[in-house]
Amino acid sequence: MDRTRIKDNVSRILASLPHGVTLVAAGKTRSVDELKAAVDAGVSIIGHNYVQEAQTSIDAMGNMVRWHFIGHLQRNKAKKAVELFDMIETVDSARLAEALDKAAQQSVKVQDVLIEVNSGKEPNKAGVMPEDTQELAHHMLSLKNIRLLGLMTMGPWSDDAESMRPYFRLTREIFKSLVKDARTKDAMRYLSMGMSDSYKVAIEEGANLVRIGTALFGPR
Ligand SMILES: *Cc1c(COP(=O)(O)O)cnc(C)c1O
Repeated sequence: MDRTRIKDNVSRILASLPHGVTLVAAGKTRSVDELKAAVDAGVSIIGHNYVQEAQTSIDAMGNMVRWHFIGHLQRNKAKKAVELFDMIETVDSARLAEALDKAAQQSVKVQDVLIEVNSGKEPNKAGVMPEDTQELAHHMLSLKNIRLLGLMTMGPWSDDAESMRPYFRLTREIFKSLVKDARTKDAMRYLSMGMSDSYKVAIEEGANLVRIGTALFGPR
């Protein structure tokens, strides 16, 4: 999509977001020129799903913007991910958390992370099961080189945003229960939910990070 349309889309969506809600531009498959147009219009965070693709963007754009990892992370990419990303939104197991902790220690960095919740309890989908979220959060808080800052969910995809509402609501309920837990409450700052078709519903359900690609850059 050309720069002007991307900038218009970014401006319109940024203006429509309530105070306190931050836009993450989902950058997969987009060119550096497209991503730069979004940053010129006010995007401050770009999300990437693949380490290799992110490397290309980061080489070209560096720290003009912050970088979030929003894809499924394999443990053997933990080191690279820690090198590249300001936040990793998709931690869903103790083993991955431990791999990130170790990589962060080697990089002399404290890695910001979110827990991805499998709010639809879908088999073969990423994310920790809702009922296991608290235990994973406690374990992550014992790891000194990662800093837990909240929760992320995808929810079972549907083109009808209303049918995603229960999954956003469930994730919000888990978030709230972790706010009530003295051990986890300070770690509950971000709730990352909602994509192009669903971000308005997600914000109604408490999202303060929304991950939007198509509505900014057009169809992939
Ligand atoms: C691609 C992607 C998005 C954005 O999806 P759109 O429908 O293009 O807005 C959000 N979150 C994740 C994890 C994604 O992979």
